[in-house]
Amino acid sequence: MTKKMIATSLLFLSTLLLAQSASQPKLIVQITVDQLRGDLPDKFMKNMGEGGFRYLKEQGVWYKNANYNYSNTETVVGHTTLATGANPSVHGMVSNVWYDREKKRLVYNIEDKRYHVLSKNADIDDATEADASQALAGTDGRSPANIMVSTFSDELSLFTNAKSKVFGVSVKDRGAVTLAGHNGKAFWFSKTSGEFITSSYYYDKYPRWVEKFNAQKLTDRYSNKPWTLMYDKSKYMFGDSDDNPWEADYAGFGRVFPHKYGRKDGKYFKHFLTFSPAGDELTLDFAKAIIKNEKLGKGEVTDYLAVSFSSTDYVGHIFGPSSLEAEDNMLRLDKTLASLFKYIDKEVGLANTLIVLSADHGAPEAPGYLAKLGIEAKWVTPLEWNKKPSLLRLEKKFGVGQELIEAFFPPYLYLNHEVIAKKGLNLAEVQKAVAKEIMDIDGIALTVTSTEMRNNTLPNTYLYNAALRNFNAKRSGDILILFEPHCFANGMDGGVTVASNHGGPWRYDTFVPVVFAGGHLKGKQVFRPIRPNDIAPTLSAIVSAKAPSGSSGQILEEVLAPSNK
Ligand SMILES: [Zn+2]
Repeated sequence: MTKKMIATSLLFLSTLLLAQSASQPKLIVQITVDQLRGDLPDKFMKNMGEGGFRYLKEQGVWYKNANYNYSNTETVVGHTTLATGANPSVHGMVSNVWYDREKKRLVYNIEDKRYHVLSKNADIDDATEADASQALAGTDGRSPANIMVSTFSDELSLFTNAKSKVFGVSVKDRGAVTLAGHNGKAFWFSKTSGEFITSSYYYDKYPRWVEKFNAQKLTDRYSNKPWTLMYDKSKYMFGDSDDNPWEADYAGFGRVFPHKYGRKDGKYFKHFLTFSPAGDELTLDFAKAIIKNEKLGKGEVTDYLAVSFSSTDYVGHIFGPSSLEAEDNMLRLDKTLASLFKYIDKEVGLANTLIVLSADHGAPEAPGYLAKLGIEAKWVTPLEWNKKPSLLRLEKKFGVGQELIEAFFPPYLYLNHEVIAKKGLNLAEVQKAVAKEIMDIDGIALTVTSTEMRNNTLPNTYLYNAALRNFNAKRSGDILILFEPHCFANGMDGGVTVASNHGGPWRYDTFVPVVFAGGHLKGKQVFRPIRPNDIAPTLSAIVSAKAPSGSSGQILEEVLAPSNK
């Protein structure tokens, strides 16, 4: 090889590397807004500023027809689908809570007693915990071990021999742990200590910068302050309906503005922060601190940051998505996003960053609000069947009644396999009989047994297919219970504790925004049907890594460089 040939080939090589780096983002920021139904940004955009949702709309590729197509639209299920591109049947996170037949108890999705949280006094406080699923955790330990397949962030790590920096942060532990994957680092907010914490799965001790961040005690800035409206009431769509009887007054947070956080040592002070835009503002501060201190987007390879904003979910549950609180929260979320994008632009450059925003599930309207508009809706007591005469019929048929039931946490009912075996009963027959009793309750659309799903003898309909995509033989219950549209499961004791509750297979729960922005992308709306499962394999394609191991998504060609068609 002559000197000239070497020089030419070196030139060719450097051009190739340049071309590659131009099309590959230095940083991928995956934002999940908990409970952000697909129509909500547009619904409230009139009063939004510049640089947040408006930036995404004007300069991003916005998919307007993205729906999950499995039955259990809950937080950990959606986050894991966003992370893995897989359905819950495959990634295994079938529900926020499932019954573990070996442990003989209900378990919380990411609990792991091997990996305790690093802070003392940061475990959840059972006396005050508002998150009913988190309260079931048998330990303070957390890890992604229950996620059965790889995440996009795992694939990025594998592709770069772990040279990529991978982080996840959220108020909710499951919002951070899922997207950070098995090789990244996750931080979440402790409603007990007010700090952003992690577990020994990720670190032996806190990085110095995290200690410094927590030492600032940023939660103190809300002490004795209220959540007030950003604008005059007259500017809001819901300005004349702040006080509605269906809204929940949780622990004294109230149904009308101003919502007082109270003193910083108040029993529910840190909970109230998460029930309001403050939770997202704190998450934003921590996300910025990760970018700065971990120097994201400054290395040779693509880095990854997942930020999950939880406030929209809490506000939606407590006040409903059509409430003055939800409207003000959206406007403040918009400001939070604008602040994050501005910071990314300063530190990394939006041109070098790929942003993708979606949600883990949508949201139903509060039944009370629907009724006000003349749309029939109702709360259903799922355990209603578990009273005579249903039990009497089962007792007559099988010789046992109540003992047949091992555990119940919607949408799954678990039967006691030991009792059934001991009595010499046929499991499939018992499942069928119990499923029929539940099916007869007003408001139940469908019950499906695990035997029917294992045998795959079900008709090819939307609901049965959605049930199958949620069916994992080890974790799903003996009977899956699906509610009719606008029918919702209330508390076990029959009491309604929230304004609205998501978790079903209907469009209001499955519909989420999917938006890509940054880098070379230009504003565009796409109306063809896609699924949130498509995000992870698309990110893999963008960085040339292989798709996550259980992914069933398609590559979204509209966001691939350089055509952006
Ligand atoms: Zn959620």
